[in-house]
Amino acid sequence: MMDKQNLSLFIKSEALRLGFTVCGIAKAGAVVADEAERYNNWIERGNNGTMQYLERNCDKRFDPTLLVEGCRSIIVVAMNYTPLQKIDGIADYAQGKDYHYIVKGLLQELMKEINGITPTNGRAFCDSTPVLERYWATQAGLGWTGHNHQFIIPGKGSNFFLGELLVDIELEYDTPFTGNHCGNCTKCIEACPTKALTKEGFNARQCLSYLTIEHRGELPENIGRSMQDCFYGCDCCQAACPHNRFATPNTTPQLQPDKELTMMTKDRWLALTKPEYKALFKHSAVERCGYEQLMRNINELYKK
Ligand code: SF4
Ligand code: SF4
Repeated sequence: MMDKQNLSLFIKSEALRLGFTVCGIAKAGAVVADEAERYNNWIERGNNGTMQYLERNCDKRFDPTLLVEGCRSIIVVAMNYTPLQKIDGIADYAQGKDYHYIVKGLLQELMKEINGITPTNGRAFCDSTPVLERYWATQAGLGWTGHNHQFIIPGKGSNFFLGELLVDIELEYDTPFTGNHCGNCTKCIEACPTKALTKEGFNARQCLSYLTIEHRGELPENIGRSMQDCFYGCDCCQAACPHNRFATPNTTPQLQPDKELTMMTKDRWLALTKPEYKALFKHSAVERCGYEQLMRNINELYKK
């Protein structure tokens, strides 16, 4: 039987072997009152737009131990998605296959490895409510949430998917990250083309990622003038962040774009048919958007 110190080291080394860049471990429990208040205030101001799922399950959101019986530890991992080359039109994170399945699949493999050592019950999450991912990544000592609303890992940047394994075993816990390395920097705020980012915070309703992916119905008038060669998502605030100078291309096979995607041109995007869309984005996060909505975005971008 491994002691909790060696088991924690084993989990971290397995996480890296599986392809995650970093792994930290936090003690599970209710989130601090300030965090719950900050979240509730953000929702009360209507900043979540039509993403009503962010308003549900607040009991579990503020106390993830309700998600897994006997939950004692939260293992947090991060997977690099920095692309080898940028593809016009599609945000960096969505160039390969759908990260939700990739990260969750790897976390389930990690779970099997843990069970090979000691019987463990748990659940894997990746960008799925109600887990407050960035909060738990901070508690696990991995980094901080920047003014751009993205999680930043010191020395590595913010181009990362976060994932969590909630488990019912006790482990050795990392020291929560307490610094904020944004300092006086305002580069992301200046780079945001729609003023979704301000010194006061982040308003999803004005964010191009929200508007192009989550928002159904018509786009705000002339929003295409703010879209910078991207009709699915937006990378401006991350591209402006000095911490991403250290980003290195990911090597995860499933995150590499299909050759066909790299060969798309403005004319081909404008003429994209539904069958072509389905073939191009099979098992991709872009499926979330749907063909009609993607064409809405493409037409808005290229009419400018
Ligand atoms: S993703 Fe784009 S629109 Fe949204 S906050 Fe960042 S820079 Fe602004
Ligand atoms: S651009 Fe500057 S302020 Fe914005 S997240 Fe990066 S370091 Fe922080």
